[in-house]
Formats: sequence, C-alpha cells, structure tokens
Amino acid sequence: MNNNIEQLRKIIADSNNIVFFGGAGVSTESGIPDFRSATGLYNQKLDRNVSPEELISHSFYVRYPEYFFEFYKDKLIYPDAEPNDCHKALAELDRQGKVKAVVTQNIDGLHQKAGSQVVYELHGSTLRNYCESCHSFYDEKFVLASDGVPTCPKCGGRVKPDVVLYEEGLDDNVVEAAINAIAHADTLIIGGTTLIVYPAAGLIHYFRGKHLVLINKSSTSADSMADLVINDNIGQVFRAVME
Ligand code: ZN
Repeated sequence: MNNNIEQLRKIIADSNNIVFFGGAGVSTESGIPDFRSATGLYNQKLDRNVSPEELISHSFYVRYPEYFFEFYKDKLIYPDAEPNDCHKALAELDRQGKVKAVVTQNIDGLHQKAGSQVVYELHGSTLRNYCESCHSFYDEKFVLASDGVPTCPKCGGRVKPDVVLYEEGLDDNVVEAAINAIAHADTLIIGGTTLIVYPAAGLIHYFRGKHLVLINKSSTSADSMADLVINDNIGQVFRAVME
C-alpha cells in the first residue's frame, strides 16, 4: 500500500484540475450501507420477491407509496451521518485548488457537508424534497417526521424526494456539467464504485487527461485503463495520502 500512496501523492502534486467520481463505497465508512442489502422484509409484506431496484423504482413509488416511504425513511435517509476521511480529504484538496469537482452517485449530501464546493449529484439528494403539486420545498427532517406518506401542509400534495428513482431519467444539466468537468480534468480519481452501474461506466470515456486513478475494495471493469489501481478501503487511502 505504501508505494501506492506515494504514487497517488505524486499524481495529486502534479495535478491542478482533479475530478473525483464516487459511488456507494465512499459513504459506507460514514455508516451508510448499500440499500441493496435490506429488502427481505418487503418480500414478506408484499408476499412476493421484490428486488431493491424495484423498491426504489418510479412505478413502485406510484403504486405503493406507503411501502416506498417506509423503506425510504428507514434505509435511504441518514440524518446523523458525518463526512469520513474521503469526504474530508476531497474538501481539503478543493480548498487547495486541486480538486475542481466531485461527481457522485450518492444522495446523502456528505461532500457538501465536508466542504466541497462543486458537487454534481447524479442521483439527486435526500436533503431536497418537493411538493408534487405546488412545488414547495421541504427538508429531510420534514420527510422523516411525517407520518407515512409525506404531504404538503399548504396544498395536500404528495412530497417527493429529489432523488432519481429507477425508471426515471437523470437530470440532463447535471450530467452535462459532470461530463464537462471530467472532459477538462487533468486527473480523474474514481472511488467506491465497481463502475457497473449506469452512467458511471459511460462518463469515464470522456476523460482525456493525464492520470486515471481507481480506488475500490475489489477490482473494476476499468482497471486496465488506469495509471494507478488501489484495491483498498477508500477512507483509509485518503487518510494515508493526507498525512
Ligand atoms: Zn403543495
């Protein structure tokens, strides 16, 4: 690991426009598990097998809003989660002018909480919620405190999290901005994702810079393209790099 850390330090020193692309593995050290690990209960409730993807799909949200919000509040919202060493290191490198943007598949807002200034949230954020009828804004606490399906006190409309559900399209503006950041980066660091999930695998192809770094516990489909591959816990890696 020491050689890898030394090499990553050199790459960071040699870079002035780093973009970080992160997946679920970035937040696990903050106590946010992959939602796919907790769906057994719903197989019982609905008396059939429901996949995690189905539970947070648009059609499930429309058809079973009570179950959707029960699962959502229990497994997708973590109001007490704090940024870990990966979030903190990226925010520090942002302050140093090294990291110009973070592109994330996570919906927990922890990069902003750590202090990163430019964050493209491909899948939205649990911190933002909107009334489907009058578009009034509500925070995460409002949704958590609601009884069952959250409804707008102003008009009675349903309040929907600003999270991209399965079957829903990504926000074009966010994707475009992320592509633009990646296309202009001199270094792209990808962490905490196996790159299987769309659109991660596609975005990487816009990178034309000098150094591609992959940090993930297991190997990924892009390992052969990378200058540096570190198969380790991403929090530990950044802790060591910033020491
Ligand atoms: Zn409303």
